[in-house]
Amino acid sequence: MSESSVKVAVRVRPFNSRERQEGAELCISMSNNSTTIFNNSTNYTKKFNFDYSYWSHDGFIEDPDTGLFIKDSPTSKYADQTLVFNDIGRGVLNNAWEGYHCCLFAYGQTGSGKSYSMVGYGKNVGIIPIACETIFSQIDERQNSNIEYIVNASMLEIYNEQVHDLLVHPSNRVQGGLKVREDPKKGVFVENLTQTNCASYEEIDNMIETGNKHRTVAATNMNATSSRAHTVLTISFTQIFYEENTGKPLNRKQSNINLVDLAGSERAGKTGATGERLQEGSSINKSLSTLGKVITTLAKKSDGSLGKNEVIPYRESKLTRILQNALGGNSKTTMIAAISPASFNFEESLSTLRYADAVKSIKNQAIVNETPQE
Ligand code: ADP
Ligand code: MG
Repeated sequence: MSESSVKVAVRVRPFNSRERQEGAELCISMSNNSTTIFNNSTNYTKKFNFDYSYWSHDGFIEDPDTGLFIKDSPTSKYADQTLVFNDIGRGVLNNAWEGYHCCLFAYGQTGSGKSYSMVGYGKNVGIIPIACETIFSQIDERQNSNIEYIVNASMLEIYNEQVHDLLVHPSNRVQGGLKVREDPKKGVFVENLTQTNCASYEEIDNMIETGNKHRTVAATNMNATSSRAHTVLTISFTQIFYEENTGKPLNRKQSNINLVDLAGSERAGKTGATGERLQEGSSINKSLSTLGKVITTLAKKSDGSLGKNEVIPYRESKLTRILQNALGGNSKTTMIAAISPASFNFEESLSTLRYADAVKSIKNQAIVNETPQE
């Protein structure tokens, strides 16, 4: 068993066009692994240390040939998609190859850069597509007649506390959503969720595209295309090892890689949500506030201050049930906390940094998931 803390990375994005027009003030600075948030009018500053602090605010240009955002000078501290993938995405894949379950989740208010890191935009592809490409190129490099590799994938969203299979057309959705169940062997799983076997990058890429088309996307004032749902892509990676001479199966390693793009963490008021949107907001906040409770309880557990009768409230929301393993369980987990650089979003960014700070202390006990074959 390998005990390890949840790894935490913070990333700050550039000003968006609205912030630039409004002459937004910067309220974030970074130095090495630390992130500082400050408020010039009150002289408040607070410094946090994380595993990684990624400065993606400035110091970059769009490469005219490739369309990639790259450093504008050798001394620039701009963190591009490749750096983030090499630090975080590669670590996730290495763990999956060893047979550990892994989880990478992006947290932050709407428009803070969660999807940019996880999925990317245009040429600046993010961790998910690079990881999918890399896993298949690694399989190609490691092709061996004594090992079989199997990649299966599923994609779901949690919307209004209902779990929907994104590989099913919305018109064929199960009324009320899919059930989350627990099995002594399999652990927590979503019943009847489509598992797609993928034999190449193209196949998984097509599958993700289909899943994205089926997502529930609604506009709010803060970001016209932001999703109000949590999206979970799970890649199941299995390696079956065979005996060289007899071809008998010897061992099997299986890893679930959970890649989670959470809905915006902002409180309903600021987004200008009303009516139906507000109802969505409250459910989103139910999953996210339960996530918050789970994180605080786990943080107490690791510093020894958890009361005897206190339970970790995984069961109070769909999100925390599905992420149960990832938080305090059998998983190697990483969080990307995305923050806005603008002082207008000071409160939300401070709250994200506090969340991230609590997540750091969560201890997981990951095991290599292997089954020797009869
Ligand atoms: P979220 O998923 O948190 O709602 P997005 O990832 O959609 O936010 O980001 C909002 C906007 O900010 C997008 O237009 C995106 O291109 C831009 N953006 C976010 N992070 C970065 C970054 N690191 N570098 C450049 N642009 C970014
Ligand atoms: Mg997003």
